[in-house]
Amino acid sequence: MSWWDDWGPALPVEGGLVASGLVRGTRIVTDARGVGAEIITRMVERSNQGIVTRGRAYARSGQTISMTLEPGRIHALVQGSSAQPYSVTIACTVPPAHRQRLIDAFRHALSNPAAGIPARGSPALRDEIDACELLSGVPITAKCTCPYGAVCKHCVALAYIAADRLDGSPVAVATFFGVRDEDLRDALDGPIPDAPVEVERFEKKQQARLARTLARLDASGAPTRDELLQRAARILAPPPTVRSQLDLEATE
Ligand SMILES: [Zn+2]
Repeated sequence: MSWWDDWGPALPVEGGLVASGLVRGTRIVTDARGVGAEIITRMVERSNQGIVTRGRAYARSGQTISMTLEPGRIHALVQGSSAQPYSVTIACTVPPAHRQRLIDAFRHALSNPAAGIPARGSPALRDEIDACELLSGVPITAKCTCPYGAVCKHCVALAYIAADRLDGSPVAVATFFGVRDEDLRDALDGPIPDAPVEVERFEKKQQARLARTLARLDASGAPTRDELLQRAARILAPPPTVRSQLDLEATE
């Protein structure tokens, strides 16, 4: 197969996976946060605008036939223009310290860690997971069986589909980082871990989020002052770990 074999229109997929929330409009990383946002960002950094646009179109139209998540590995079959779907893999080596950070975050944020990792977490839990910066400094590889060679539209499509799953589900993040329910229960005998994030790091991150949101609001029309204040309050609200650390500092 040569490179031009993949230039035709993609063959339609019935019941394919769609990253609906993440590919609306022209923004590259919209509402994706944390692990998923990081994966999208890394793929986008290594592609050109045409590849990103086509990858997003694939994620929107459901060209991903199936996806599996396992520790350090996301695999998918993505249907392109040739009869055989492409096999796409995004992978990393999970550093044990990062895995531990996630266990600590679960133990810290869940009122009953013994009940296991929830499929859909509260916004506070998701903030806590995001604040762990689990992929910070971790190399991510992407491979596809299509003839393109570099990071291709199929890799970009998978990044969006994976982000849709990861950023909506603590259990999906746990799977990707090799954390099981047993790991939370095994750790129960130990002391409750310290807050996994420092206040300073949290503040920097929130400021960056606020700046991004303001830029987006700016681009999408003039929001009212109340809308802006409401958004700002939501973004700047600290997750439980940071809140408890701030409370401690206040009483010292
Ligand atoms: Zn490809």
